[in-house]
Amino acid sequence: MKAQVFRGVKNLSYEEIPVPSLEPSEVLVQVRVVGLCQSDIKKILYPLYEPPRVFGHETAGVISAVGSDVKKWHVGQRVAVMHHIPCMRCDYCLNENYSMCDTYKNIVTTAGFAPSGGGFAEYVKVPGHIVENGGLIPIPDDISFEEASFVEPTNCCLKAVKKANIQPGQTVLITGAGPIGLMFVMLVKYFGAKAITTDLISSRIEKAKQVGAEAAFDARDADLPEKIRTLTNGMGVDVTLLAVPSDKAFFQALDCTRKGGKILFFAEFPDEVEIPINPNVLYRREIDLMGSYSSSFKVQSLAADIVFNRRIDVKALISDRFPLQDLSQAVEQAVKPTPETYKILIYP
Ligand SMILES: [Zn+2]
Ligand SMILES: [Zn+2]
Repeated sequence: MKAQVFRGVKNLSYEEIPVPSLEPSEVLVQVRVVGLCQSDIKKILYPLYEPPRVFGHETAGVISAVGSDVKKWHVGQRVAVMHHIPCMRCDYCLNENYSMCDTYKNIVTTAGFAPSGGGFAEYVKVPGHIVENGGLIPIPDDISFEEASFVEPTNCCLKAVKKANIQPGQTVLITGAGPIGLMFVMLVKYFGAKAITTDLISSRIEKAKQVGAEAAFDARDADLPEKIRTLTNGMGVDVTLLAVPSDKAFFQALDCTRKGGKILFFAEFPDEVEIPINPNVLYRREIDLMGSYSSSFKVQSLAADIVFNRRIDVKALISDRFPLQDLSQAVEQAVKPTPETYKILIYP
């Protein structure tokens, strides 16, 4: 089968590799659509993982083979694939920190080599633990593979919305109106809160309003804190979701978030970035800082419900489709987006 193999930093190689062979508990999925995620891009551009690997984890496809012990799934079923599933038993899982679970981190779907998602290939193998514990999600007949590929990123965003405890009537600042920022706008609105967005690209500022932001501003606007206070009874926003890895955005968030509010780090920063902070800013204003990484098993069915019942319009986020062969080109475009670049989908 064809796969895009990570052979080193900034080095993707479109190769013929063996179709993974199945253990009795495993399932093979033919990948139809896989979303290109910011985390894939980081793994390709920075020395974070030893090569060779096949990344890609926002996978939707068709079951093409099942192991001899698999009774609940059959060839031909359309599925969204969760690339990892927690154990539900360890101390992390019992505290609902599912993404910190060792099983979650270590048992991962694979197209070969060290398991790393494997969506950037024609076929991906789903380990028994994931098959047996809810990691395959049937796609309803009227939902496209493209839409289904959004279940995983929706889960990640939903987890952050839940973690920040966003409530109806609140106002939320979302820094960055790329595919993730726009999805946050949609989810925040779905939960009955108001979204305010910032970005540097004017088309993204407009797009944020189109998909439901109450207001959207240029991130360089010196009057931003004042404008936000005007929109929030002089208080500032209840929550800021940082959807860009920018220290400037963080300091802006401190200026725009109300006393007693929350700032959530969603975008992963480059490792070399450090943010100096005066602790008294947090102490006197009682601002909570929090981070949200990856997905949560707890919101998995809600994420599927939101996508499959079209409670948010994920199709509005799609801007580009690339064949698997051109993954490097897709990565380049995501790194240097055109005014019209949002979510990029990859077709094996
Ligand atoms: Zn992702
Ligand atoms: Zn666990």
